[in-house]
Amino acid sequence: MSNLYARRANLRKKLGEISPIVRGSVVELGRVCGRPNCHCKKGEKHMSRYLSISIHGKTSIFYLPKHVEQKAKKYVNNYKKASLIMEELSQTNIQILKGNIKDNPRGKRK
Ligand SMILES: [Zn+2]
Repeated sequence: MSNLYARRANLRKKLGEISPIVRGSVVELGRVCGRPNCHCKKGEKHMSRYLSISIHGKTSIFYLPKHVEQKAKKYVNNYKKASLIMEELSQTNIQILKGNIKDNPRGKRK
């Protein structure tokens, strides 16, 4: 039991160290600009990165200027890391709850 509590404390510490987080993904999309003789008109589109975010089933995208690209990727990656830790925390807490049920004689009552 006690190692489960230690595990939980460790996971919570790890979770606290992850910041900032963004639930979304960085995507690359081609776009056509407004210049009349640009190569993008012939199919060679301008590739740019965007942050794609889905909230309540509605997806929005934001253009990411070059200097923000790495930061956005990091935020998105932090969310993934945090999610994995959250899942581990949940599993650990389930084990703790199961242990509590076993420890408590009242839990044995039918
Ligand atoms: Zn163009």
